[in-house]
Amino acid sequence: MRKFVCLICGYIYEGYEVPEICPICKAGADKFEEVFENKEDGIYKRFKVEKKVKENDVVTSFYLKSIEKVQLKKHKAGQFIAVKLNIDGVDEVRQYSLSMKPGEDFYRISVKREEKGLVSRYLHDNVFEGDVLEISEPLGQFILKDSNRPLILMSGGIGITPVMSMLYEASNSGREIIFVQAVLNSSAHTFKSEIKKIVKENNNVQTEVFYSEPLDKDKIGVDYDHLGFVSNEWIEKSLPKDGEFYFCGPLGFMKHIYICLTNIVTDKSSINYEVFGPSADLSEK
Ligand SMILES: Cc1cc2nc3c(=O)[nH]c(=O)nc-3n(C[C@H](O)[C@H](O)[C@H](O)COP(=O)(O)OP(=O)(O)OC[C@H]3O[C@@H](n4cnc5c(N)ncnc54)[C@H](O)[C@@H]3O)c2cc1C
Repeated sequence: MRKFVCLICGYIYEGYEVPEICPICKAGADKFEEVFENKEDGIYKRFKVEKKVKENDVVTSFYLKSIEKVQLKKHKAGQFIAVKLNIDGVDEVRQYSLSMKPGEDFYRISVKREEKGLVSRYLHDNVFEGDVLEISEPLGQFILKDSNRPLILMSGGIGITPVMSMLYEASNSGREIIFVQAVLNSSAHTFKSEIKKIVKENNNVQTEVFYSEPLDKDKIGVDYDHLGFVSNEWIEKSLPKDGEFYFCGPLGFMKHIYICLTNIVTDKSSINYEVFGPSADLSEK
C-alpha cells in the first residue's frame, strides 16, 4: 500500500495508485505527492505548544516546537501545515497556514475562533502551553514566484496568515511591496504591531489598512487608513497594474478581489490566491 498526500489540503490517501480527485478539497491527481516513510517516521510529527498568544478577540497564535528536536523543515512562505487532533475519540484534521518568517526554529499557526467550529474552538479553549499537537510538514503551492515586479499582498480577516509569512520573506528583498489588510476593526486587527515593525525596518513596504466597522476608539490615519471595503475604484486607482498579486480571505472577499484584479491586469498569471476551505476556482461563475 502506498500513501499520497494532497498538497492542497493535507488529506492522506492510502492506495495503490494516486487518487483521481481529493475527497476533501476536490483537487486533482496532479496535486498529490507520494509520501515515503519508514516505520518510525510517520506523516504526523509530535510538536509541543511552546507558547500560546492571544493576538486579539478572535485570533490566537500557537508557537510549535518539535519534541524530537529534529531540524525543522524550512517552509516556503504561504504554505500550511495539517493539524491532527483527537476530539472525543475522533481524529479531526484541519489546515493552518504558517504565519511566521520562514527559517525560524518553531512553527507558528494563528487560528481564528469560529463560534460553531469544532477544531478552532477546541484549539482556543482546550489546547494550552505544554500540550502536544500532531502536525504534518509544510504543504501547499500558494507560494511566491520568483519575480522583481511590485508585490501586492492582500488579505481579508484571517486570510492574513499566509501573506504575513510572505511579507516576512519578501520584505528585505528591496522589492516594492503593498500590503493591503481588510478587517472589521481594531478588535480583529491581527499582527498590527508586527507589521508596523516590518514597515519601520524596510522602506520598500507600504501598508493600506481597511476597517469596515471601526469602533468608537479607532482613529483613521492612526489605526487604519480607509473606511469600508477594498473597492474596485480604490484598486484601479492605487495598485500597480504590472504587479504580482497574492490574496487570501473569506470567499466573498476573494471573489470580489479576483473580479477587481481581472479588470486591471492583463497578465492573469499574476493573480494568485488561496482559499481556506474546499479549493475553489474564482474564475468560475
Ligand atoms: C490551506 C488552508 C489554510 C488555512 N489556514 C488557516 C489559518 O491560518 N487560520 C485559520 O484560522 N484557519 C485556517 N484555515 C481554515 C481551517 O482549516 C478550518 O477550516 C477552520 O479553523 C474551521 O475549522 P473548525 O473545525 O473550527 O470548523 P468546522 O467545524 O469544520 O466548521 C466549518 C465552518 O462551519 C461553521 N459551522 C460549523 N457548524 C455549524 C453549525 N451547526 N451552524 C452554523 N455554522 C456552523 C463553523 O463556524 C465554521 O465556519 C485554513 C484552511 C485551508 C484549507
